[in-house]
Amino acid sequence: LADRLEDAWKKLRGQDKIGAANIKPALQEIRRALLSADVNLQVVRDFVADVEKKALGAEVVSGVRPDQQFVKIVYDELVEVMGETNVPLAQAERSPTIVLMAGLQGTGKTTATAKLALFLKKQERNALMVATDVYRPAAIDQLITLGSQIDVPVFELGTDADPVDIARQGIEHAKAEGIDTVLIDTAGRLQIDTDMMDELRRIKDTVRPDEVLLVVDAMTGQEAASLTATFHDQIGVTGAILTKLDGDSRGGAALSVRRISGQPIKFVGVGEKVEALQPFYPERMASRILGMGDVVSLVEKAQEEIDLADAEALQAKMMEARFDFNDFLKQMRLLKGMGSFGSIMKMIPGMNKLSGADIEKGEGQLKRVEAMIGSMTKLEREDPDLLSRSPGRRRRIAKGSGHKDTEVMKLVNDFNRMRTMMQQMSQGGMMPGMGGMPG
Ligand code: GDP
Ligand code: MG
Repeated sequence: LADRLEDAWKKLRGQDKIGAANIKPALQEIRRALLSADVNLQVVRDFVADVEKKALGAEVVSGVRPDQQFVKIVYDELVEVMGETNVPLAQAERSPTIVLMAGLQGTGKTTATAKLALFLKKQERNALMVATDVYRPAAIDQLITLGSQIDVPVFELGTDADPVDIARQGIEHAKAEGIDTVLIDTAGRLQIDTDMMDELRRIKDTVRPDEVLLVVDAMTGQEAASLTATFHDQIGVTGAILTKLDGDSRGGAALSVRRISGQPIKFVGVGEKVEALQPFYPERMASRILGMGDVVSLVEKAQEEIDLADAEALQAKMMEARFDFNDFLKQMRLLKGMGSFGSIMKMIPGMNKLSGADIEKGEGQLKRVEAMIGSMTKLEREDPDLLSRSPGRRRRIAKGSGHKDTEVMKLVNDFNRMRTMMQQMSQGGMMPGMGGMPG
């Protein structure tokens, strides 16, 4: 997948605009890549259509190659589709919170039940695991073994009891013991069948869970889509756990599960051990699905580096009081073009007054400043004090650039204030190092 996308990026490389024509091959590659990552066909279609819309509307960021920018758009869209943020496990207003685990056999339900119990324990919550898989004696033993490993109680009534009864009594037991979360492990089949669905539905109707978690094996591939659709239609799920992500699956199932159920993936299983459970983070999964976590961070780095290289040169100049109108213009352009640098500068006292709001008003303000600076002589730009001293020069600039005297005056004042401030800060050692600042 990474290779395929790499090809797509190559096709975009060296082009300076994201346009309808040059984007087609890249979109085609994404389509093919996602399909080969086992994302469901319909999901792929919708996704590609969305990416196309966004990419075509995108302004080309200066200093970033279109192919890099395109990667970012694809990545951002993936993150968005997968829900943007992590959604935590539901918690009922009144204990106990009831969580029903659903899914095919072998997907990792029982393991995930124990993992969740341990996870909750670490959050100072306590859990009871309920064993309702009565069809395989080993399943109950498995849960008991896991329970003793993590020191979490297991409620079971052997293999002769009715799963619905076990679930109900388990909850009563939890209430009596003051346990705040009940995790109900259920039986799965190798394939979806009506018995399994009926039993799940009966348990669900009886215990009225706060959360129904569909456990999906990340290796399931294309079938994750129909599987999700069936479970969601027949039982109604509130979230999912994607297991076995420690394997070499790209995690395309995550995209399908989310798109088809509309429900968030809440956790991922990353190993056989009980500790191997992590909250689901859309960003990480997006990188994984694209098979290019490195590429994405490279894009971000590239963007930062381009900006920071400029910023650092400017900063050095400011400190040495060599800061002139040419630098000022550059500064304005940087601030305007760069969200991240803008936010860095806003954290510097004084800078916000001078720039932030005004500059972010956008084009207009920058154009006026550009025009005024454009009307300055080379000498005036390099020696700004000339303008502070000479109303005549300011008047000439105002006329030349089609502005009022007061506007030129304001520009000069702003500039001086900025320069003074930079010098004070550099003397007081207050200038924060750019490197350590959040971008
Ligand atoms: P269930 O039938 O749905 O209850 O599935 P189990 O919990 O019994 O798990 C089936 C197999 O998958 C077991 O061998 C587990 O150790 C393994 N398994 C479960 N989750 C993961 C995971 O996240 N990564 C890996 N590598 N194996 C897992
Ligand atoms: Mg099981």
